[in-house]
Amino acid sequence: MDSCIALLRDLVAINSVNPTLVPGAPGERAVAEFIAADMRTHGLDVSIEPVVPDRPNVVGVLEGRAPGRTLMFCGHTDTVGVAGMTDPFAPVERDGRLYARGAQDMKGGVAAMMSAAAEIAARGGLAKGRLIVAAVVDEEHSSIGADALVTKWRADAAIVTEPTDLAIAVGHKGFAWVRVDVEGKAAHGSRPAEGQDAILRLGRVLARLEALDATLQAQPPHALMGTGSLHASLIEGGHELSSYPDHATLQMERRTLPGEPESKALAEVQQILDALAREDPTFRGTATARFSRPAYEVPANHELPRALTAALARAGGQPRIAGASFWTDAAVLGHAGIPSILFGPGGAGLHSTVEYVNVRDVLTCRDALIELAKNYCGSIG
Ligand SMILES: [Zn+2]
Repeated sequence: MDSCIALLRDLVAINSVNPTLVPGAPGERAVAEFIAADMRTHGLDVSIEPVVPDRPNVVGVLEGRAPGRTLMFCGHTDTVGVAGMTDPFAPVERDGRLYARGAQDMKGGVAAMMSAAAEIAARGGLAKGRLIVAAVVDEEHSSIGADALVTKWRADAAIVTEPTDLAIAVGHKGFAWVRVDVEGKAAHGSRPAEGQDAILRLGRVLARLEALDATLQAQPPHALMGTGSLHASLIEGGHELSSYPDHATLQMERRTLPGEPESKALAEVQQILDALAREDPTFRGTATARFSRPAYEVPANHELPRALTAALARAGGQPRIAGASFWTDAAVLGHAGIPSILFGPGGAGLHSTVEYVNVRDVLTCRDALIELAKNYCGSIG
């Protein structure tokens, strides 16, 4: 078996479910220790950097023999939960696929980047420049790992090895979470003159949000990322059957495009609430921004996509430029001044109960990363 696939099997066998997503889950410590030991074995200079207790980033550095440019490979070590899966941490290989939780998202990419660095070291190391391999925590929740990474580490460019089906993804959408609270007036269910139904009033908001979503999705699409969109994620309200509900709450998500500020979602919702209050002075609703992350796009004409295109072609792949719909740590790196693109193996089932990565893609990803480092930092050996 290729050592890269053996490494992938070891990585998925370690439970690293994000403990913020799933309370009581073990988190990234064990997998971080494993990664640190493996990178040390291959001669990288390794540091374990706690982000919060028991949840460390791991950074390995391969220093070239002469000064040059710094390239970073970055991947996250946490996974989503495993509810409904049978044997999520027992890797099974079948028909060229490796099945396990995290196989595609994104231990396949982590194995590829670690294995690329190990291979470069084994072939005599970098003649010039510096390669940084960063395995970070918590991408599946709020990316505290990537946030911590960019306070300490700099690079001229980065590849985030999230699963892209081997497409070179030069950007992705952002997201914003907004909470909407609508007030009503509690009353006995038989006394409509006294009550104000907060749930039905929230319905007015929902109808406007649906119309806004349709408008967003009817906009001319971004060439690689499509359109913005929104959805109602969570809803809550009411106390009992025979009473008018005095309060209803909606939590919603807006997906944003490059160029749309994080504050846009809140402004859109506020506009809807203002309009409803003008139409009915008894309508009372407030909107609150909860959490957001910006969209990201590598600067136009940055050399990184071209360099990776050439590297992937040399590794036997078929390069194509794309955008990703999901948010990633590339935005954290990019907005911290490290131009970043996404490039990782294909597969299916990320965040679902049957997840796999294409074994061949993991190897192609690794080979392209080796070619890229060789040319971006300086030749090997
Ligand atoms: Zn991921």
